Amino acid sequence: MLVGVPKEIKNHEYRVGLTPAGVRELVDAGHQVIVETLCGDSIGFSDDMYVSAGAEIVSAAKEVFDRAEMIVKVKEPQPVECKMLRAGQILFTYLHLAPDPQQTELLVASKATCIAYETVVDNNGGLPLLAPMSEVAGRMSIQAGAHHLEKAQGGLGTLLGGVPGVAPAKVLIIGGGVVGTQAARIAVGMGANVTILDRSLPRLRQLDAEFGGTLNCVYSTTEAVESYALESDMVVGAVLIPGAAAPKLLTRDIISRMKKGAVVVDVAIDQGGCFETSKPTTHENPTYVVDGVVHYCVANMPGGVARTSTMALTNATLPFALQIANKGAAKALLDDANLLEGLNVHDGKVTYKAVADALGYEF
Ligand code: NAD
Repeated sequence: MLVGVPKEIKNHEYRVGLTPAGVRELVDAGHQVIVETLCGDSIGFSDDMYVSAGAEIVSAAKEVFDRAEMIVKVKEPQPVECKMLRAGQILFTYLHLAPDPQQTELLVASKATCIAYETVVDNNGGLPLLAPMSEVAGRMSIQAGAHHLEKAQGGLGTLLGGVPGVAPAKVLIIGGGVVGTQAARIAVGMGANVTILDRSLPRLRQLDAEFGGTLNCVYSTTEAVESYALESDMVVGAVLIPGAAAPKLLTRDIISRMKKGAVVVDVAIDQGGCFETSKPTTHENPTYVVDGVVHYCVANMPGGVARTSTMALTNATLPFALQIANKGAAKALLDDANLLEGLNVHDGKVTYKAVADALGYEF
């Protein structure tokens, strides 16, 4: 199959659909890969590296879209990209269609086969192509929070791990899923005093078994959120209620009574945020202050470490991309019910129920 990788065109998106190592796997399996020039250059994947991996470099996105049988991307296609898709062509990328009627209409009109990373599932009902980005955001949340605890960044001037003779900072993580677990790993690793809250007892049991006495695993109640937040130097919001807006667990009232110079990192901001005072920010201007508390609410945290995120994403998407390239979309989708869950639009129809329901398409 001829696989195409265009350069991402969304504002400040530096990730790329395939690493050179991913290209090599496809080429070794007998496929052809065309890559738009400079698509990974800013994150250390030069055209020469793609050529060494067996790709052909082309000068414009139009050539990628015109020639490729499957397009592998990162972000949802922008209108100009949707209009270059054609009937029967495969699009494999994040789509997030439910809140995006314009993109859905354009993909339906293209009659392409559009497989969304975010709805592919695994045998345990997990989301294997979303998990790598949650892992990145979870680990990054502590790194970002620790940086903003520094005095010059607006924080209280607290070192997460303390030093001998000075107690470590207190970190509260609300939500013990993928983001929360990875945040806990880094915070514990940096020597902080870490508490994690979750509503799921089985999850708390797993965390307790995994971390032993290094992590304080507590059932999430309003009382627990309030009492731990008031004594914390950093709070990370990492809850998810699938398909729903994030619940506002840290209220404006609690924030107003927290330590001045504490830092709150709302990773759940892409679902509306789980702190009442959260509003989305960007990597260029990541923080703002409410009642003396520094808020970090970057909606696309993985984009800040685009190189690591690209590698993590390719690791997860490549086995599926190979299946599709080896078998063709129809057979790959019919053979693998988990991949089939990713099919959102096909041949002019919306094929994913939640998207059809949200946007009023027939299903
Ligand atoms: P997940 O499903 O793995 O974990 C969510 C956890 O929240 C679950 O363990 C659940 O039991 C718990 N939870 C639900 N209600 C709770 C409550 N009231 N109190 C405590 N815990 C509660 O989800 P995830 O992959 O860890 O993602 C978490 C959030 O981070 C999502 O909103 C996701 O979209 C977001 N995210 C944001 C970015 C970003 O760049 N900002 C990147 C990746 C993920």
